[in-house]
Amino acid sequence: MPRPISATISLPALKHNLECMRGHMSRAGRERGRESPRIWAVIKANAYGHGIEQAKQAFASADGLAMLDLDEAVRCREAGWQGPILMLEGFFQPRDIAVLRDYSLSTVLHCQEQLEMLQSAPPGKSLAAWVKLNTGMNRLGFAPEAFGAAHDWARQLLQQGRLHEVGSMMHFARADDDAAFTRIQLERFHEATAGRPGAVSVCNSAASLMPECWASFEPSTEQWARVGICLYGASPFAHRSAHSLGLLPAMSLQSEIIGVQQVRKGEGVGYGHTFIAETDMRVGVVACGYADGYPRHAPNGTPIQVMGVRTRVVGRVSMDMLIVDLSAVPSAGVGSPVVLWGGSGPSVDEVAQACGTIGYELLCALAPRVPRSIQALAATQARQEGHDKNFLGELT
Ligand SMILES: *Cc1c(COP(=O)(O)O)cnc(C)c1O
Repeated sequence: MPRPISATISLPALKHNLECMRGHMSRAGRERGRESPRIWAVIKANAYGHGIEQAKQAFASADGLAMLDLDEAVRCREAGWQGPILMLEGFFQPRDIAVLRDYSLSTVLHCQEQLEMLQSAPPGKSLAAWVKLNTGMNRLGFAPEAFGAAHDWARQLLQQGRLHEVGSMMHFARADDDAAFTRIQLERFHEATAGRPGAVSVCNSAASLMPECWASFEPSTEQWARVGICLYGASPFAHRSAHSLGLLPAMSLQSEIIGVQQVRKGEGVGYGHTFIAETDMRVGVVACGYADGYPRHAPNGTPIQVMGVRTRVVGRVSMDMLIVDLSAVPSAGVGSPVVLWGGSGPSVDEVAQACGTIGYELLCALAPRVPRSIQALAATQARQEGHDKNFLGELT
């Protein structure tokens, strides 16, 4: 028998979350009498730990996929994705350009070096490109004073047939916690792109939920939101739960109790004895540790669920195991089910918050050694969307 730990990836939840985000945006669009942005489903980092193939299936109705690993992009194409694919960091070396062309991948252009590589690439199939402006994130992108020249250069590459589309994009640094700085970034973007043709892409999950971000453009401007974390059922905001946004957890991590100890008052638990029993108590040992991707720095009190009852982690998380307080679950014993996050247990955001991090980090840190089981889309759903190849086969 393998260790009793596993993760469940719910394709219906992934699909629901995409529809939920589209719903939020189209309602806001309707209220303003305008179209809402198209959606790039962001599936970088192995779809935030959920698996590229799973994401490709569940996000079949997305307008495009965005990621940054060329191999993952190629896998999407090979799995049959025909829509746009955006490479969020563009390309890294001249030889990547051939891959972009072969697989029709759209590229971000965020630095002079990329423009030079594109200019000196041998002639070939034209690409779609998005010139990125640094509006204050200070990560990737052209400074406002350099953006005009970069965009002009991209337009020249368009005339030369090296590109067939040139859009403009930016990324918010504080869409989750600072509306004033978000407005400043947006103003910088408007200023730098004024009068320049092409589609725009500004919003991540948080900004997609703030219609003032995308509704500040002319209704005729083609817009693309880049939605990541919400698709996976976690929240970009510290003070707004995913549940309150109508999102469903797409990953649950579960395991079992594999041992029980009766600990006397005053005894320490686990490495370093970072927890001292306040009273005589039972604790359970769970088959899940930091080698499974559970954060080692989870403090005493981190929420966890045993037999449907919410309790707490006690003591230091070790490589393959962690320890839970069973005081509230007297009937728990070896074999009792444990939910670390997702499903009916604490949300990944609650666990992350207790650990001083964000849901994003926990989701993408799930270790490859944890077996995944996939909750499939209902057959009827898959059929309606024409993804079930066998069904298409049956028709002919
Ligand atoms: C990761 C990423 C996103 C998605 O962000 P979320 O907060 O997960 O929605 C959007 N744009 C870029 C450039 C990114 O790197």
